[in-house]
Amino acid sequence: MSIKFDNVTYEYPGEGRPVVAVKEVSLEIADGSFVCVCGENGSGKSTLAKLMNGLIAPTSGVVTVDDKTTATEEEAALFAIRQKVGMVFQNPDNQMIASIIEDEIAFGPENLGVPREEIGERIDYALSAVGMTEYRYNTPYKLSGGQKQRIAIAAVLAMKPEVLVLDESTAMLDPKGRREVLKVAEELNRQGITIVLITHFMEEATHADRIIVMNEGRIVMDGAPAEIFRKREEIERYDLELPVADAIAAELIGEGVPLPDKIYSESELAEAICLSK
Ligand code: ADP
Ligand code: MG
Repeated sequence: MSIKFDNVTYEYPGEGRPVVAVKEVSLEIADGSFVCVCGENGSGKSTLAKLMNGLIAPTSGVVTVDDKTTATEEEAALFAIRQKVGMVFQNPDNQMIASIIEDEIAFGPENLGVPREEIGERIDYALSAVGMTEYRYNTPYKLSGGQKQRIAIAAVLAMKPEVLVLDESTAMLDPKGRREVLKVAEELNRQGITIVLITHFMEEATHADRIIVMNEGRIVMDGAPAEIFRKREEIERYDLELPVADAIAAELIGEGVPLPDKIYSESELAEAICLSK
């Protein structure tokens, strides 16, 4: 299973002239990887996400999922692509339709024509994967933002996707909710699901295999976190910020404090500073 972009451009029909949202992007998402897509507002991240699962088709170039083009007119092929590449969006409230969580999760598999007995199993699996089993018969309205996003993820998981695209799904959450959603994404990745996490919080990219930075519709940086975080000036040029611990470490190294050149969590940095004395 892989997602490939071959020289993909996408234009929205604007008033007057079209808005080019994604420009000449070529890219391949490796099976089982955890990829973070960063970039300032309007850099084309959401458009890239929608191109990944055929919600929109390229203006030029080709996107393939499992070697099948997303520009297909065949309903069944498009349906298969959208089932394989699941999407979770920013606002959890816009993604809830049912008044009972169980029904919310059942909705996708029902649409796929999954038999009744199996739907029950899928609900069990999906709720357990996001740590929300005990909420099965509750209403979604009373949940916290982080819990709502976990339900939105469960609703996608019930369709057994191979890739999960999270489009700024942590942006509206408090720090606790963000951690909950990230933890779920990391755990799903360990179980073999490919994760594409779109965010403008670079610290969420610390555990990714790969960071892609977008600017004005183009991919301007692409590499492992350690490699990207080292290019501080370039990151700032694209209006992104290094995770706090790494920014402090970089300053300290610049001041001559002998710290190993690596990616730091806050506690690792504290420990490294103590050891450097
Ligand atoms: P991001 O998710 O990084 O904020 P988007 O992919 O949403 O970026 O947007 C990229 C560019 O496309 C922006 O200039 C935005 O204004 C424009 N755009 C996005 N959606 C539409 C739309 N539906 N119609 C016209 N222009 C759009
Ligand atoms: Mg967006």
